[in-house]
Amino acid sequence: MTFTFDRIASAGAARAGVLMTPHGRVDTPAFMAVGTAATVKALDPLELEAIGCQMILANTYHLHLRPGDEIVRSLGGVHRFMGWDGPMLTDSGGFQVFSLESLRTVSEDGVEFRSHIDGSRHRFTPESVMQIERNLGADVIMQFDHVIPGQSVEADARDASERSIRWLVRCRTEFERIGNRESGIGNRGSSLLATSTTQPAASIPDSRFPIPDQALFPIVQGGIHATLRREASRAIRSIDDWLGYGIGGLSVGESKPDMYAMLDVVNEELPTDRARYLMGVGFPEDLVEGVRRGVDMFDCVAPTRMGRNGTAFTADGRVNVRRAELKADPRPLDETCECSTCKRFSRAYIRHLFVADEILGLRLVSLHNVHFLVALMRRSRAAVIDGTFDAWSRDWLARYHTRPTPVS
Ligand SMILES: [Zn+2]
Repeated sequence: MTFTFDRIASAGAARAGVLMTPHGRVDTPAFMAVGTAATVKALDPLELEAIGCQMILANTYHLHLRPGDEIVRSLGGVHRFMGWDGPMLTDSGGFQVFSLESLRTVSEDGVEFRSHIDGSRHRFTPESVMQIERNLGADVIMQFDHVIPGQSVEADARDASERSIRWLVRCRTEFERIGNRESGIGNRGSSLLATSTTQPAASIPDSRFPIPDQALFPIVQGGIHATLRREASRAIRSIDDWLGYGIGGLSVGESKPDMYAMLDVVNEELPTDRARYLMGVGFPEDLVEGVRRGVDMFDCVAPTRMGRNGTAFTADGRVNVRRAELKADPRPLDETCECSTCKRFSRAYIRHLFVADEILGLRLVSLHNVHFLVALMRRSRAAVIDGTFDAWSRDWLARYHTRPTPVS
């Protein structure tokens, strides 16, 4: 089987595992760097590989608008297009289109929206998003879901969560239909145990790049309402035996205690032998708290966005590299970090690059930040395996929150 997830060790709710994909393995827990427009901003895929980043993300919304998913497919799919041969995941565009507050109209069928680039009209439905994600060709693709603000009241959260489940059923049907129609083999991941009984449709001559083997992940929604999260988890499990489960709609404006409480609920409801992916969460403390609550995969633009803004993650909290005190500081950004930025450059030099508006500065801090999260997950994994995770994570969180280095 091309796709598998194996849990190899656990410590409380925390787990260490291996996700296998057609483009290789991902050791979990893992942080996935985000390549919004088929590029992890300012970083070369070779640098990501050197960091030890095993899986990365691209955004369906952005690539559909520019350059267009059909173009990407005609060039061999998103892996070849961006020069990354490792495991990849695409989001469904749900988060992006629902963020376009004034630019969209929602119905049961889907979402109409205007492009943020040129104002042109577009329509996302569960079916059209499956076709786009099939065209892009990432290993793991996410269902189209209805995303709402983090503080939404229960009625709104229920409406969006139940719609997301109805859309999941439509996504699954279309995912399999396209797989049968276009490749005859590109249909894995939704059903691990059952064999598809769907007969391939009459073959359609198609000279385009063949659709690869992909796995479809559902997304558990439900806002900050435990009942809804439970209901969504159960409903999604009743639809299929999924390879992995997305946990969506968190880190969108709710409080941290609310987010952690929802992770505890979902942890109880999802099968322990399947991958759990907490979407859009990427601050160091949230990764450690997430692993403590049974999460295996994370993604976020935070490390590269903050890197470009001159904020570095360190074991003692965040550091603003423009601060005057760093002017003659010979130390690396983080003395325990083994990234190529920290091995070679001082805080003083990096501060100088930012003050002088040199492009290398934002590259060096972006690289450090992505490395920081990837290494943090590698360390967590080792601690789960050797049985020290509970103590290690408590110590790590205590040091991080103490912040002897003042925040910007
Ligand atoms: Zn570093």
